[in-house]
Amino acid sequence: MAAASASLTIAAMNTSTTTSTSSALPRIAVLATGGTIAGAAPDATNTSGYQAGVVGVGQLLAAVPSLATVANVQAEQVASVDSKDMALALWTTLSQRVDTLLASGEIDGVVITHGTDTLEETAYLLHLTVKSSKPVVLTAAMRPSSALSADGPLNLLNAVTVAGSAQAKGQGVLVAFNNRIHSARDVVKTSTYAVDAFHSPEIGALGWVQDGRVEFQRAVVRPHTTATPFAIASIGAQWPDVEVVTSYAGASRVAVDALVAAGVKGIVVAGTGNGSIHATLQTALAEAAAKGVAIVRSSRVGSGHVMRNGAASDDALGFVTAGTLNPYKARVLLMLALASGHTTPAALQNVFDTY
Ligand code: ASP
Repeated sequence: MAAASASLTIAAMNTSTTTSTSSALPRIAVLATGGTIAGAAPDATNTSGYQAGVVGVGQLLAAVPSLATVANVQAEQVASVDSKDMALALWTTLSQRVDTLLASGEIDGVVITHGTDTLEETAYLLHLTVKSSKPVVLTAAMRPSSALSADGPLNLLNAVTVAGSAQAKGQGVLVAFNNRIHSARDVVKTSTYAVDAFHSPEIGALGWVQDGRVEFQRAVVRPHTTATPFAIASIGAQWPDVEVVTSYAGASRVAVDALVAAGVKGIVVAGTGNGSIHATLQTALAEAAAKGVAIVRSSRVGSGHVMRNGAASDDALGFVTAGTLNPYKARVLLMLALASGHTTPAALQNVFDTY
């Protein structure tokens, strides 16, 4: 898909009430950040050569007049980025803005429109850092707003409907996409082009929203939002430097040695199978662990969990395992854990076993 400008625009908070207000309806803030849902292509059948994040939130809302029947919506253009260019500074801005809105007493829930590429990372970051039990729902689209059969308008309507529902309270951050409701912890993008692009492998969706009816089939079990010790404010301007490396046939130690020399605080390895690691790469990672770099084993497979001491001697090597988190979500948790002062393998394993 065509790239938008790599420059990050955090626009001035531009608040506009876009629906007539009704006191019976929930008050939902829509925070727009860009992505394909705000993308535009030269013609209606073009779903690959478009620019992401160029359509403003006012136009996105105007395309869904029935929003006025489900919520009193106010909108803000927080950023206009292709989410492949998501920046840690924008995560900080977003998390703090969500907290401010939900603490105000004038907002019942938040919807965030986002690109699909890094949606699962932003969603999990917010799931761990937002300090409110009010609903926070991310949504996106696989087709630009200009496309014939664009999926953004219905995804947006469903996300606002979920954010305004009583059942969504206390469930942590949610993703409403293609009629399903997923937990931010479990959901991943699983397709490059399909409209049904998000799934929660092995675990499944929490529920669905169909024709305006929100139905949850299960609840989120692990602690999130108000029940975590992670605070975005404690991170400050400098996020701990954590990188991801991958294991594969013939893997070398070049990347790990370069990262250690650059002073990274943590490395997540996307291992083969049950987080198994090529011997050459494993030796380099064990040496990095001995120097105090946090090493987390995850899997590149895409579903299933990585079991401690299953494919490597984690105790002897000083490694931590990621459980069901994919490498990119494991990186989010590792950054937050390191920023909160968890540095030993035992303390970090406890964090990964808990959140
Ligand atoms: N590159 C786009 C983005 O992540 C893709 C999308 O939104 O579907 O912003």
